[in-house]
Amino acid sequence: MSSGHLSTYNALPDGLLECPAARLREVLSGPTLFDLSAGRKGILFITVLQHGNETSGWDAVRTLLASGDAPSLMLFVANVDAARQNVRKLPGRVDFNRAWEGGDSPEAAIAEEVTGRAMAAEPLAAIDIHNNTGRNPPYSVVTRTDERSLGAAAAFAQRVIVIDHPGVQTRRFSEFCTAVTVEVGTARDPSSAERASAYLEAAFRWREPPRVSSRQLYLYRNLARILVEGEDDAVTPCEDFEALNFERAEGGTVIANVRNGRGLKAVDEHGADVTGHYLETEDGEIRLRRAVIPSMFTTDLRAARADCLCYLLEPLPGS
Ligand SMILES: [Zn+2]
Repeated sequence: MSSGHLSTYNALPDGLLECPAARLREVLSGPTLFDLSAGRKGILFITVLQHGNETSGWDAVRTLLASGDAPSLMLFVANVDAARQNVRKLPGRVDFNRAWEGGDSPEAAIAEEVTGRAMAAEPLAAIDIHNNTGRNPPYSVVTRTDERSLGAAAAFAQRVIVIDHPGVQTRRFSEFCTAVTVEVGTARDPSSAERASAYLEAAFRWREPPRVSSRQLYLYRNLARILVEGEDDAVTPCEDFEALNFERAEGGTVIANVRNGRGLKAVDEHGADVTGHYLETEDGEIRLRRAVIPSMFTTDLRAARADCLCYLLEPLPGS
């Protein structure tokens, strides 16, 4: 297992591009920053595998690098240890994408070093590529709503979630460059990597990120994150609910069944318990108390326990 050590390269080691995510650890010793900028400013900064089982970003990047068409860039390949086991993060370790604004974890030390090197390169834009576990339309996530951040987001998808979650790379990087997270679909769907490739190819041509106003997009903000509580298999997520990702779900819609206990907990962005505002349990059914727009809902309980069952969104006014 890697400690808080960042490896850096100025060229790609032999055999790297042939490795699927699960085999990267055979070539790399842990989290690795590739500085392929040749000292140029205004390059793209790309991050993949902050979550080890979200492999589409790496597949997109290695295809583009192998084609020889990629321009100067910086590439951070984050959680290769978790990728080897095809898990979001290793047990007992922090979530890499919560470690970018301090903390005493090895991940935070690496994130700090990566941030310093990225800042020095004065990137044009930073793109962090993720997968969802459940079926969602493609969407972008930003922490700022200036026209360049929205332009970088819109170049990937018309659906954009605006978050203010401490510790995520996009929030940290937005302090010194245009920064966006793209959620490209499920890792098991080959079109997710194709979608990521198409976006990166477009971004490679930017002289600067396009400018887009909020009126041209569907903007959302997070109201709550739904966590799974209690003993194993007490909760059964409702399969039909997955089709409601990014759709309006009316009050009364069943989100899960529960055998005993509360089953699900809703928390807001500051971690406050808001369960009673959004959920009610009756006759073993957990229902929405009010109309919301779910996202990232998954029926995979293991994934839901590792992260969350879903988010509840509302449209942002003016969009
Ligand atoms: Zn992720």
